Amino acid sequence: KPMEGRITDIGPRDFHDFLPPVIAKNKGQWLYHEILEPGVLVHVAESGDKVFTVRVGAARLMSVTHIREICEIADKHCGGHLRFTTRNNVEFMVDNEVSLAALKEDLSSRKFAGGSYKFPIGGTGAGISNIVHTQGWVHCHTPATDASGPVKAIMDVVFEDFQNMRMPAPVRIALACCLNMCGAVHCSDIGVVGIHRKPPMIDHEWTDQLCEIPLAVASCPTAAVRPTKVEIGDKKVNSIAIKNERCMYCGNCYTMCPALPISDGEGDGVVIMVGGKVSNRISQPMFSKVVVAYIPNETPRWPSLTEKIKHIIEVYSANARKYERVGDWANRIGWEKFFELTGLEFTHHLIDDFRDPAYYTWRQSTQFKF
Ligand code: SF4
Ligand code: SF4
Repeated sequence: KPMEGRITDIGPRDFHDFLPPVIAKNKGQWLYHEILEPGVLVHVAESGDKVFTVRVGAARLMSVTHIREICEIADKHCGGHLRFTTRNNVEFMVDNEVSLAALKEDLSSRKFAGGSYKFPIGGTGAGISNIVHTQGWVHCHTPATDASGPVKAIMDVVFEDFQNMRMPAPVRIALACCLNMCGAVHCSDIGVVGIHRKPPMIDHEWTDQLCEIPLAVASCPTAAVRPTKVEIGDKKVNSIAIKNERCMYCGNCYTMCPALPISDGEGDGVVIMVGGKVSNRISQPMFSKVVVAYIPNETPRWPSLTEKIKHIIEVYSANARKYERVGDWANRIGWEKFFELTGLEFTHHLIDDFRDPAYYTWRQSTQFKF
């Protein structure tokens, strides 16, 4: 039936319909919350009511079978309620400790045939939560790397820290498979971004038929695209020319014009960024900075990428002060020291020198004192 005050029932339903009864009852009257153990939180209301939350890691792309199983768990323990966090975790909520114990046992007992967890509990506090990521090769058209593949490989090497809270502060990891950055790479402690390193190819036979050429020209942030005419057989056709030295391999033109493919097996790969956050604890929110300029796509397990991320986390955990996020730590000790301690190579690629007069940008390179 239409909600009160609504003329139609088009659009999403009012979110109040979806609140678990104990949350609806105590809305706006919560006293405090704490983490009881990794992956388990309790929220306590003024009325004395409690909500126990069990957080489990989940894949961002799920099969229908898996979603059905998640719903079945919510039906069995949580009156049909559950929520997804912004980092692709699933949270199951119950209102008493007996139900909490049964829920935890049920989640832990569900495993894949090989014995790996289906619903690993964790992702809270000073540990590693699930990785925010984008579409990758499975779906999008401009990726320079995959998303689910490297994310799975990274989570496998940092999984221990998903189930523990041994680090100085939370470490948020994100992956975006191109510079469009659908992921939260710019504001995560550790970010992985797919980059192209070659200009788009131009398929002159199709540019006139598949593309609005003025749109493709307008889409280029560095004015590298211009209209031209080329001869194909005995015909002159409208097409596109690209000034390669102005191209920054962003792929915008390909988004507008499918006849400008940019993916390239040799050119594509990833960058590692470090030090971003959205929290304003200790210091204000920060953008992340590039610390590794290029790693090739080493399918299927991305060993160089995972080894570097694991190493950064280990060095950070051993050296940072309690509550210091990765960026706070690097800023305090100085980025020179960050490179020294992590053993990452500092190259000229890490210096942000993009200064097109038409597009003055916010410089976000590592800041050195000398
Ligand atoms: Fe597509 Fe780029 Fe977003 Fe990846 S980051 S999903 S390639 S737009
Ligand atoms: Fe311009 Fe980006 Fe296309 Fe290069 S990839 S030509 S910079 S829109």
